Amino acid sequence: MTAYPNLLAPIELGHVTLPNRVVMGSMHTGLEDRAKNFPKLAAFFAERARGGASLIITGGFAPNIAGTLLPLASKLTTRREAKQHKVITDAVHAEGGRIALQLLHAGRYAFTPWCVAPSAIKSPISKFKPRALTSRGVEKTIDAFVRSARLAREAGYDGVEVMGSEGYLINQFLAPRTNKRTDEWGGTPEKRRRFAVEVVRRIREEVGPDFLVIYRISAVDLVPDGQTWDEVAALAREVEAAGATVLNLGIGWHEARVPTIVTSVPRAAFASYAGRLKSETSLPVIATNRINMPEVAEEILGSGDADFVSLARPFLADPEWVRKAAESRVDEINTCIACNQACLDHTFKNQRATCLLNPRAVYETELVLGPTRRSKKVAVVGAGPAGLACATTLAERGHSVELFEALDDIGGQFAIAQRIPGKEEFSESIRYFRRRIEVTGVTLHLGRRVTAAELRDGGFDEVVVATGVEPRVPSIPGVDHPSVMTYAELVRGEREPGQRVAVIGAGGIGVDVSEFLTAQPSATLDLDLWRAEWGVGDPAESRGGLTKSLVETPKHDVILLQRKASAIGKGLGKTTGWVHRAALKAKGVEQVTGVSYDRIDDDGLHVSFVAADAGAGKGKGRKAANGGKGGKGGTADGARAFRVIAVDTIVLCAGQESVRTLADELGDSGLPVHVIGGADVAAELDAKRAIRQGTELAASI
Ligand code: FAD
Ligand code: NAP
Ligand code: SF4
Repeated sequence: MTAYPNLLAPIELGHVTLPNRVVMGSMHTGLEDRAKNFPKLAAFFAERARGGASLIITGGFAPNIAGTLLPLASKLTTRREAKQHKVITDAVHAEGGRIALQLLHAGRYAFTPWCVAPSAIKSPISKFKPRALTSRGVEKTIDAFVRSARLAREAGYDGVEVMGSEGYLINQFLAPRTNKRTDEWGGTPEKRRRFAVEVVRRIREEVGPDFLVIYRISAVDLVPDGQTWDEVAALAREVEAAGATVLNLGIGWHEARVPTIVTSVPRAAFASYAGRLKSETSLPVIATNRINMPEVAEEILGSGDADFVSLARPFLADPEWVRKAAESRVDEINTCIACNQACLDHTFKNQRATCLLNPRAVYETELVLGPTRRSKKVAVVGAGPAGLACATTLAERGHSVELFEALDDIGGQFAIAQRIPGKEEFSESIRYFRRRIEVTGVTLHLGRRVTAAELRDGGFDEVVVATGVEPRVPSIPGVDHPSVMTYAELVRGEREPGQRVAVIGAGGIGVDVSEFLTAQPSATLDLDLWRAEWGVGDPAESRGGLTKSLVETPKHDVILLQRKASAIGKGLGKTTGWVHRAALKAKGVEQVTGVSYDRIDDDGLHVSFVAADAGAGKGKGRKAANGGKGGKGGTADGARAFRVIAVDTIVLCAGQESVRTLADELGDSGLPVHVIGGADVAAELDAKRAIRQGTELAASI
């Protein structure tokens, strides 16, 4: 008996029978753009097919040059290119998997000067204004889709996915926001739908019945002047009649100001749209977005809302996701925490995607973790992300590993992160490592602050120091005042904050702490509350499914400060920073930049700034350093101005220092000592670097 009968039930889809309901959704890895990288892409897909994904969808390939996301980016337009794909389709089929190629025309989202769109309206996320397609151009674009579908078939793919969501070209035709045409391709909802329907109809005519045509439908656009629900439902029926095999849901355009996949979005937040679409057509429906664990998927499938679930990033984090579910090893799943740090943030910086938690993802042929030839006895000190990744990988390779942790539990700084509202998923990583320690046979010593002498006398062949970081305490006069606490003391619940709080330091942790102090603790877990905060409404009631957001008054008044004059949150992730900035603004967090911290006393935090620089605080959501609430006002003294910020609590988020005592003491021990993670370099440390460094070291011992 399985706990996931719906998830693991076989199903007929068009001409094929699939072994389960888990589709690996399309992701651009960065390997699609050059055929010389296809063997690496093949290895990436093959590992996921072996791990149980029943149907894989590739990253997007453009049907013509105008549709590429970037100059020289992935496209499928010639027979020569089609032949180069054989290595991919053969590798997946050899593992018993199925694979469909995604056809994506970027339209006005293309970062090219030759981009096209239904109308010449620039998108807010591209610097290029598109050229409006002529009627002949529209016809030629449809022909290009058809040609690519034919080539995909020749290349051995089991089908194509027609990308009709996320605000790309087809979606641009569908919405009045971007389609202002008055010819046969716009002007009424029916005419706006014609392009999508003709693409599907003519592809089906070309490829015949025994080929999957997946239509990715934008269930809710989440932009002003997007589609109404009636329009989405009509489209579903029309693409069914045109020959689509299955509807895969897309949620929100890339330019939407509602987060749709980041970690603070509740799990399965958009699954109900799948159920609504199912009642509009007889096509099978694939639910998507923030489905990262088997129980979530099973619930959606069991409720009848969808026939399949699509997981994309979870397959980066764990290629064996399906197999582990089938073998009742769910506690071994390396759960995607939806951080975007190593996948989407890389893609948007034109770097190869991988996974913060699984650095082998998309590096399968390069980061090889085979068994060791000579088993060694290795001590790993520190069970934060770096030490955990290193210890478990070493043990998996056949080394005998002892892991020492000073605290009573594993996780290091990550254990603090999981307490931030919106980062609850991080606890899954700690659960994963806890189980992996058991599975790989690492000997874990908790509550053990190991000394250099113990390590020297312990008979170890090698020592890995992963002792991490501790909060920096800046040398501000009065920093030992009772109102001052570190972020670790605050977030761990060791100290209670007052009502008015100043946060010193506005890096990732300062922003997280500001959210900790102002967020509704349950917003990530309570879908209605989350929808209200982000203004997610019903597309049956308003175009695009947007409504007015309602934010409850936060429990604390927070002022967030930094010394730099630049905008707060600049260093945050490309795909997540805007979500944090919007949340701070919505919660009324005052943001002050360009300050010097002069002293702390019973009156609060005394800051000063260059008077001419008072404008340093200008800009959205920011205040001039000499203004704002909670202060006694500013006085100018020559070139400097002063402000006393009257607060009850001051939280230090001023970066971190490496914990290196042990590494220094072991320096002349004669033992091979490796220093990784925050203990190695504290500046710009994140879990991505810590885990990669730990894994790479383990691969080399
Ligand atoms: P640490 O996590 O500091 O772990 C070191 C461990 O060593 C600790 O458990 C410590 O107790 C132990 N130790 C120290 N000395 C000894 C000794 N002598 N003997 C035994 N044990 C010892 N990173 C991201 O990538 N993304 C995020 O979104 C993110 N959010 C964060 C939010 C918050 C609020 C915080 C605090 C951190 C966040 N981070 C995030 C940062 C991330 O957690 C750190 O970069 C990461 O934990 C560093 O890993 P590490 O293993 O090098 O060190
Ligand atoms: P950080 O990003 O380096 O920020 C440190 C902050 O402290 C900066 O705002 C800095 O700004 C300030 N600061 C530095 N030295 C100071 C001093 N002596 N006195 C006063 N202020 C000082 O580091 P962090 O916020 O501690 O985060 C640590 C790491 O965790 C980051 O590198 C980040 O990658 C990771 N993290 C990531 C996320 C995420 O969402 N991806 C979230 C949290 C943490 P000024 O010098 O301008 O004052
Ligand atoms: Fe998921 Fe983060 Fe890994 Fe991307 S980097 S796959 S979001 S855990």
